[in-house]
Amino acid sequence: MDLLNTLVDKGLRRELPTREEALAVLATSDDELLDVVAAAGRVRRQWFGRRVKLNYLVNLKSGLCPEDCSYCSQRLGSKADILKYTWLKPDQASEAAAAGVAGGAKRVCLVASGRGPTDRDVDRVSKTIEAIKEQNEDVEVCACLGLLSEGQADRLRDAGADAYNHNLNTSESTYGEITTTHTYQDRVDTVQQAQAAGLSACSGLIAGMGESDEDLVDVVFSLRELDPDSVPVNFLIPFEGTPLAKEWNLTPQRALRILAMVRFVCPDVEVRLAGGREVHLRSLQPLALHLANSIFLGDYLTSEGQAGKADLDMIADAGFEVEGADKVTLPEHRRAESGAGAGCGSHESAGGGCGSHADSSGGGCGPCGSGPVEEPAAADEARTDLVAVRRRGAGTDLAPNA
Ligand code: SF4
Repeated sequence: MDLLNTLVDKGLRRELPTREEALAVLATSDDELLDVVAAAGRVRRQWFGRRVKLNYLVNLKSGLCPEDCSYCSQRLGSKADILKYTWLKPDQASEAAAAGVAGGAKRVCLVASGRGPTDRDVDRVSKTIEAIKEQNEDVEVCACLGLLSEGQADRLRDAGADAYNHNLNTSESTYGEITTTHTYQDRVDTVQQAQAAGLSACSGLIAGMGESDEDLVDVVFSLRELDPDSVPVNFLIPFEGTPLAKEWNLTPQRALRILAMVRFVCPDVEVRLAGGREVHLRSLQPLALHLANSIFLGDYLTSEGQAGKADLDMIADAGFEVEGADKVTLPEHRRAESGAGAGCGSHESAGGGCGSHADSSGGGCGPCGSGPVEEPAAADEARTDLVAVRRRGAGTDLAPNA
């Protein structure tokens, strides 16, 4: 396919594809899917080899947010039955982070719900960062606390934060349909404040919220312009009790095309497969490793991911390797350009929320002998059975999944 040859050539040269080329990736047929994955996989291998960076989420403060982001289970008025708790103490957060690091994570993402931190919150998170770094000075720490005020990014950087996450989530033209309590420009401003403070910027998107292909291409092109070091790609988990609960728009094939498009547009950036991968990619998750070079280990903010051991097995079975602490994630040229000390980076979750996911738990075991044989689900069927609210790890007495 001429399109794919062109996109590979451009990706290897770090050249921006045209919008038409990006749209054409999203419009490819299922017959062409493996060719698309193979082409984007060549670009991924050029810049990141077969390494997979593991990141670990710690939800410092869960639920009860005054903002109204429609996709978020922690939003104002959310009826989702998620864990709700106020700030973890630094030692509690550090303990949760240690579980992720022991599981192979080289980055810990500290996330708190809310519009943005107060100065007191920044103090609190600074103490948490110090506690984590005392235990393990090599671990990268990314903060995700919402909209930042003047000077807060500098203070986080001084406390030892390596990165800051704030996602654009969707296109500027549709942003107002998703959230009314802050603007797209507010989000851009916060990412730029983080960059100005020398933090490695992490900013990404959420697919599956009813957006058009043009919206997806718009937000990914905006991200390329903003030039974060890492781009988390979330797939909406339509939580019951949120306005987008009925938005089951993704198939595994569509999710792969979106990841491929992001890789072609942001070839040398850490593309992170984030919330919703188990729910929407399902058995095609290993193919996504050919596109993304980074994933979250274990659970998400308010929902459960597959077991950490299953993540590690999947990486090994697919012929990839977990990126060690001795390796720098970003290619040399980006490190030179970014100037953000600790290397690339980053982390997930939109403004403190997005992310999440789950499995069904509670319900049933798999097929076991004598019961009726179940029909396979269609690729575009709503898989509410795969969404499980997080009930372990941070904010509970149960061990975290790592
Ligand atoms: S994404 Fe963040 S700011 Fe928006 S509702 Fe969720 S926790 Fe609040």
